[in-house]
Amino acid sequence: MTNAFSALGLSEGIASALTELGYEEPTPIQTSAIPSLLNGRDVLGQAATGTGKTAAFALPLIERYIVGSEASTPLVMILTPTRELCLQVAESFINFGKNIGIRVAPIYGGQEYGRQIRLLQRGVHVVVATPGRALDHIARGTLDLSNIQALVLDEADEMLDMGFADELDAILQALPEQHQTALFSATLPSRIQAIADSHLKDPDHIVIAREKTSEGEVPRVPQIAYMVGRAHRLAALGRILDVESSELAIVFARTRNEVDEVTEGLRHRGFTVEALHGGLDQASRDRVMKRAKNGTLEVVVATDVAARGIDLDNVTHVINFGIPASLETYVHRIGRTGRAGRSGVAITVLEPREHRQLRSLEGITKAKIELRSVPSVTDVRAKRMELTRAAVNEELLADNFDKYRVLVEQLCEDADVFDVAAAAIAYADRLAGGQQDEDEIPTVTPFERKKRPLSDKPRERMSNREAEQGMTRIFIGAGREMGIKPGDIVGAIANEAGIASRRIGAIEISDRFSLVEVDSPVAMAVITALRETTIKGRNVTVKKDQPKRSAGYRDVEQDGKRGHYERRERAPKREPRKSRFDE
Ligand code: AMP
Repeated sequence: MTNAFSALGLSEGIASALTELGYEEPTPIQTSAIPSLLNGRDVLGQAATGTGKTAAFALPLIERYIVGSEASTPLVMILTPTRELCLQVAESFINFGKNIGIRVAPIYGGQEYGRQIRLLQRGVHVVVATPGRALDHIARGTLDLSNIQALVLDEADEMLDMGFADELDAILQALPEQHQTALFSATLPSRIQAIADSHLKDPDHIVIAREKTSEGEVPRVPQIAYMVGRAHRLAALGRILDVESSELAIVFARTRNEVDEVTEGLRHRGFTVEALHGGLDQASRDRVMKRAKNGTLEVVVATDVAARGIDLDNVTHVINFGIPASLETYVHRIGRTGRAGRSGVAITVLEPREHRQLRSLEGITKAKIELRSVPSVTDVRAKRMELTRAAVNEELLADNFDKYRVLVEQLCEDADVFDVAAAAIAYADRLAGGQQDEDEIPTVTPFERKKRPLSDKPRERMSNREAEQGMTRIFIGAGREMGIKPGDIVGAIANEAGIASRRIGAIEISDRFSLVEVDSPVAMAVITALRETTIKGRNVTVKKDQPKRSAGYRDVEQDGKRGHYERRERAPKREPRKSRFDE
């Protein structure tokens, strides 16, 4: 079977894996990058998470280097800033290459070396790594890069922000002279441009252009967004539909598989809902359309491809289940509501990591997107009560319940009329699904990068103030005299504790110690991980910074005798683990 992916030059084995994953057509970044990379060209791609960038580089590199090759020393290397992304990218490679027996090694800080070494020794096609750990393996001689044909720097801006510039340089030096390179980054600051200039050979520069929209082109419907953790997206969608008074909602999902999953979930919750995707035959699609038009459906869950060309005037709600892959798609989708003078609402359910694109959507639609909290259990109950009240009122007005009077009279022989009415409502509520959903959905905050002074001359010295709200300050007994830079601290925390850089706040390096603020919930994990590693060959004190101690620093600092702080802590008596700091 051919599909839109084979048209880009991908072979049957790969294209069919995509069909199994439920991908219907390439996203814009894929349409541009796949042919370039298949032709062996270097690529500079400007694309954020959610655009489909992983498949944009993974598919052509699998096709070009891995199909028909033995798993031995790696042929393709992907560098990612965090452990999360490393695992996600590795999983994508495994999914895309499952029909060709692909072997992939995710290599990241925080996991024991032995396992990673065994995986590498068994032979792999692809290594997906965080920079610090990759360098460790190179230094130990356990990662052989001599056969690397292609390198991808994924989320390069994030890698630099995390202080991985030196590691990147060292890894690039360790690669064979001849290799294909792709650099993907959401933004292209000058530091990224400099890396591109020195490491990419005449690259194809792929920018997913921000389409210009003119006045009147973007539908003027209110836009709302809800941010929830990935595991709670479906539950959140159900609740949103519970509290919204929708007549007909179209929920857009990315893949066929996702459409089926969402349809099933909503059906289970009691909605009349049907799926619409390219895997359905024409008769099924016609049936869904007919029901959507005649008002016997509450929700249609669709892929963009399937929804193209369908014409519905009565859509009150367009819901994006996840951020769409392009801004154009978003504008297209929300244009399906608020038609023919009716009111409409556009809703987006997104994960925190997709937060960045929300701003782009505001840019393209030139309107504010209101970020709301997911409806709580109380909200859902209140809404249901409101519906019950309206329904009972309607019955009262219709005045067509004589045949139940005898029953009520009988019930009232043993109970108060008030209790009977309340019991009847409780029964109706239960039938309407009122017993579901007693658990609250946890609220999440956007993963916005905390402002972090990258120079070690912060505007206001941390030691002169309290830790930021929600942050815990950690004392590390190593400072400038040991050659510590802020990037080292970010790198150590990211690699050894596996904590995303966005959870790291201000950093301050003094001559003999450093202070770093991290999100309070991960503080203990960071302390434990840093205690188990050595920094520049030394076992240093790592502990929660006590406010009293900070006051002590302040005096020292203000005396101008910076760095004359006496180390009072004993290093923990534990076998140190070698870290990337140990040359
Ligand atoms: P990424 O931008 O690589 O993080 O991808 C975002 C999400 O989009 C992932 O969940 C992918 O599985 C999904 N995705 C990527 N390409 C496509 C496509 N062509 N069709 C449907 N879903 C896709």
